[in-house]
Amino acid sequence: MFFCIDSPIFATVANLTAMKNIKILEKCKECGAPLIQGRGRTDRKFCSVTCKNRYHNRNSEPFREYRQRILRRLDRNHSILSGVIRAERAALGLTEAMAMGFSPTIYTSSTKKGKHVEYTCFDIRYRISENRLWAVEKITLSFLSGL
Ligand SMILES: [Zn+2]
Repeated sequence: MFFCIDSPIFATVANLTAMKNIKILEKCKECGAPLIQGRGRTDRKFCSVTCKNRYHNRNSEPFREYRQRILRRLDRNHSILSGVIRAERAALGLTEAMAMGFSPTIYTSSTKKGKHVEYTCFDIRYRISENRLWAVEKITLSFLSGL
C-alpha cells in the first residue's frame, strides 16, 4: 500500500483502521493514499490540502495545454526515432530530423556517457551530436522493467 507522506492520515491510519466503524473506501485522487471516510464528510477525494492543490494545479487549463504540447512533441520524436530504427539507418541528420518535426530539447531522460549524453524517448535511446542523431536503438524490456 502507498501512503502520501504529507498526509495527516499517514501517522494514524493503523490506529483508525483498527476501529471497526471507519472504512477505507476510496483512494486519494492525487497520491493514491487510502481515504478514511465516515467522520462527517463522506465524499473526500484527497487525503490532504497539499494533494488537493497539487491535483488542481496539475489539471488547470494552462498546465493541461503545456502537458499536451510536451506529450505531442515526445510522440513526434518517438515516431521519427522509430522510423530511423525501421529503416536500419545508423544516423539521421539533425537538420533533416528537425525538418520532420524532431524536438532535440524534449526527451524522457538523459545520462552522461563518457563525453556524450545518451537520451531516451520512452523505449528508444539515442545520442545527439552537432549535426546528427546517432546510436538510435530500442531499449530492451529488461532495462525498462528496472526503472
Ligand atoms: Zn494524497
